[in-house]
Amino acid sequence: MILAIALASCSREPAAPVATVAATPAPVVSAVSAAGLSDDDWRARLTPLAFAVLRRKATELAFTGKYDKHFEPGVYHCAGCGDLLFSSNAKFDSRTGWPSFFQPAAAGSVTTKMDGDREEVLCSRCGGHLGHVFPDGPEPTRLRYCINSAALRFDAGRIE
Ligand code: FE
Repeated sequence: MILAIALASCSREPAAPVATVAATPAPVVSAVSAAGLSDDDWRARLTPLAFAVLRRKATELAFTGKYDKHFEPGVYHCAGCGDLLFSSNAKFDSRTGWPSFFQPAAAGSVTTKMDGDREEVLCSRCGGHLGHVFPDGPEPTRLRYCINSAALRFDAGRIE
C-alpha cells in the first residue's frame, strides 16, 4: 500500500499530497532514549511514514490516520520513544481528519514551540514532531492538540 503524506500541517483544510512513501508494518518500539540516535537509527526503527512525521515534520493526509476516528479507552504513546503522550480521556472528534486531544497526558508529556504562525507540538522525551496545537478546542482547556496518527502508538485499556 502507498500512503500519501503532505508537508503542510494540521489545518482544517485538506492539504495536497506532495510526497508518497511505501507503508511497511510498524516495528515494535520499546521505550528508548533518543539521545544519540542518528537518522539511520530512526529510519531503522520507524515506518517510513512515522519517520517522515516524527523526524521530518511531515503531516499525514487528513482522514487517513488510523486514530482519527478511534475512540477506544486507552493511552497513546510516542511512536518514536514509547513515552506516554495522551489519554483517550482527553480525545475528542474535531472532524478535522486528525486525532485531537484537549490536553496531554501530563503537563510535561509534550513541549511546544512556535513554527511560523503556528505552535508545534513535540514529544518532550525524543523531540519527535507530533503535530500542532490550536486555540479552538473544547472545554476545559479550549486547546486542540492536532496530532498525526503515525506519531502515536495506542495501548488499550491503560488510562492514566
Ligand atoms: Fe518520543
